[in-house]
Amino acid sequence: MIPCMVAPTAPARVLGIIGDPVAHSLSPRMYTAAFEAAGIPWRYLAFRVLPTDLADAVRGIRALGLAGVNVTIPHKETVIAFLDGLETSARRIGAVNTIRVEDGHLIGYNTDAPGLLEALSRAGGAAVAGAQCLILGAGGAGRSAAFAVAGAGARSVTILNRTPSRAQEVMVRLAEAHPACAVAAGPLDATTVVHAAEDAAVVIQATSATLSAAMGGGGGRAAWLEALEPALRPGMMVLDMVYTPRRTELLAAAAAAGAIVVDGVSMLVHQGARSFELWTGHPAPVAAMRRALDAVERAL
Ligand code: NAP
Repeated sequence: MIPCMVAPTAPARVLGIIGDPVAHSLSPRMYTAAFEAAGIPWRYLAFRVLPTDLADAVRGIRALGLAGVNVTIPHKETVIAFLDGLETSARRIGAVNTIRVEDGHLIGYNTDAPGLLEALSRAGGAAVAGAQCLILGAGGAGRSAAFAVAGAGARSVTILNRTPSRAQEVMVRLAEAHPACAVAAGPLDATTVVHAAEDAAVVIQATSATLSAAMGGGGGRAAWLEALEPALRPGMMVLDMVYTPRRTELLAAAAAAGAIVVDGVSMLVHQGARSFELWTGHPAPVAAMRRALDAVERAL
């Protein structure tokens, strides 16, 4: 007879993150530390979900009785078609990074936007309100960043993307939602990025170009990244959402230029804290979450 391996006190709930790639995600470590610190016996796992399997995976959230999931590359926009409802800001932004199961309904939230603002405000630079902001990327993370800074009162937002039509689509949506903010869009190339960086006080890197090649990203090698480095300057605030590696080449160049540097781990902690609170209804143990992520860096 096969022995039963189920623990007598089985975990109360299971959550996770769905994406492709997802092996680089530090979310399982961060939430495991959070649940331990809060004394909540929940489990958080990483699920690699290919785009062709997204509909089945989302149906599985309900079928398997999960409490919810985080959503990462490349599903933050496409997942919306499979949900039962959206919280207001996720609907406005058009991207979901957190799903909560509410009375059997799958409701999409966006905690990337407030998490990003929290990371920026804790970095101690100039306020986003009134600032000229440059967003590199127009995927789920880029559009969340664009709406976050416009909602915080940015004077202007310029969105550059490898596929320019995607940046233009975000520009139209953002201009409708925030008519007082000057919005522009363009291609992510060496000439455009240098021109756009000239006036920017805040630069947010929201593409996978700086994600290590081993994790399925661009490995930090792009003509536009090389062109951007000399345009970085003291007082500018530079946030790179990518945290694998944690000190991306862009952030290293920004620090060398005297800019205020905000790494992707800082944003991860603050968006994760909001997701934790949505799922559990308890205050997030932010210090424990950050310690877990710092421990990963020390172990590398
Ligand atoms: P996504 O929806 O799949 O979008 C990917 C974005 O990256 C698109 O703008 C894409 O451009 C661009 N891109 C991909 N490879 C590129 C390359 N080699 N050169 C230039 N652009 C490239 O993904 P996402 O959800 O927006 O996430 C983007 C990155 O941010 C990911 O690495 C993710 O892990 C990170 N992120 C971190 C946090 C955090 O809390 N720290 C939160 C959210 C996201 P095209 O449109 O041309 O394909």
